[in-house]
Amino acid sequence: MDLGVHALPLDLSTTYPVHSLSEGTASFDALVAGDAKAPNPIYARLHNPTVARFEEGLARLEGAEAAVAYGSGMAALTALLLARRPHGQHVVGVRPIYGSADHLLSSDLLGMSTTWTTADKVAEAIRPDTSLVLIETPANPTLQLVDIAEVVRQAGSVPVMVDSTFATPVLQTPLALGASYVLHSATKFLGGHGDVIAGVIATSEERAKSLRQVRALTGALLHPLGGYLLHRGLATLSLRVERAQASAQVLVERLSHHPAVAKLHFPGLTTESRAILNKQMRGPGCLLALELAGGYEAAAQVMQRVQLFTPAVSLGSVDSLIQHPAGLTHRVLTEETRAKTGISPAMLRLSVGLEHPDDLWADLKQALDSVSAELAA
Ligand SMILES: *Cc1c(COP(=O)(O)O)cnc(C)c1O
Repeated sequence: MDLGVHALPLDLSTTYPVHSLSEGTASFDALVAGDAKAPNPIYARLHNPTVARFEEGLARLEGAEAAVAYGSGMAALTALLLARRPHGQHVVGVRPIYGSADHLLSSDLLGMSTTWTTADKVAEAIRPDTSLVLIETPANPTLQLVDIAEVVRQAGSVPVMVDSTFATPVLQTPLALGASYVLHSATKFLGGHGDVIAGVIATSEERAKSLRQVRALTGALLHPLGGYLLHRGLATLSLRVERAQASAQVLVERLSHHPAVAKLHFPGLTTESRAILNKQMRGPGCLLALELAGGYEAAAQVMQRVQLFTPAVSLGSVDSLIQHPAGLTHRVLTEETRAKTGISPAMLRLSVGLEHPDDLWADLKQALDSVSAELAA
């Protein structure tokens, strides 16, 4: 950057020369204590300038003092749980939540126990040893909204983590509503092009220190190339989200009149959801779910017959994706939990990308029409 470069450099170095031992030891101490940077980065497990550039950008977008990036969203969640463990080995989770997050929290892999509850009963679930409350809004895959400020109020002195992957900082900034941590699977909208697996947590500088310590000790790093691509992705984030959101709104409107669709899920469709949306979001986002009148079979057929939508898990890419939550992303949940949280076998989740909305609608319509025709026959 001393050269005044425009595109920022990708720093792949694993180690950095230590010419002054006194500067080296002071830098080492600072990084091991969880500082964001030091005069000498020492070793790339402690600090990488390319990853740090993405973290600073994301922190600014979230209105946070700091952000800490990891090799995946799940690595970020794991690091957060490990960082909270000394404060108490109990967490409270509101379902529904990302399938693998549910799986991790329901296991005793990290020595933490989880009480699952609903958004209105968080206060009752808090114990003296509760060190974290976890919510996801909009939630995966039902697009249910959770009132962030209300959960923060119920949690009292216990910090609240919001998985804000579906909203991105373009549509929602949970720290401003009192949350302590914002988690993103950066694999999704932040990267935006389906070519990076990454996770990031935005929080206060004090809390970030323990997250960096866990990252350095467990080695759950984001590779600098991922940091480079994510930083570049931030430049187009708002454009991508706004365009995809506008297309999602067009699709929801058209789908609501199609006879093959029994039920639609999209933030703001019900009165309760609209009230929360207006309170904490700047728009409904780019994901929607639908339930087919023809049940599981019809859902499977639609997934097979789409041509422009890619039938695949994940979301937030420039390409539109369609997937079956009960059969894929939320397969690890018990049938009972799926039923309780509204993840029906007839449900498909759509992540709208940047294709023209008329082309997306034409694709969905031909798939839905053929399913309706078969039902009528
Ligand atoms: C994908 C996802 C995760 C997990 O992130 P990975 O990058 O796949 O590890 C967590 N939360 C939500 C909402 C997700 O969509």
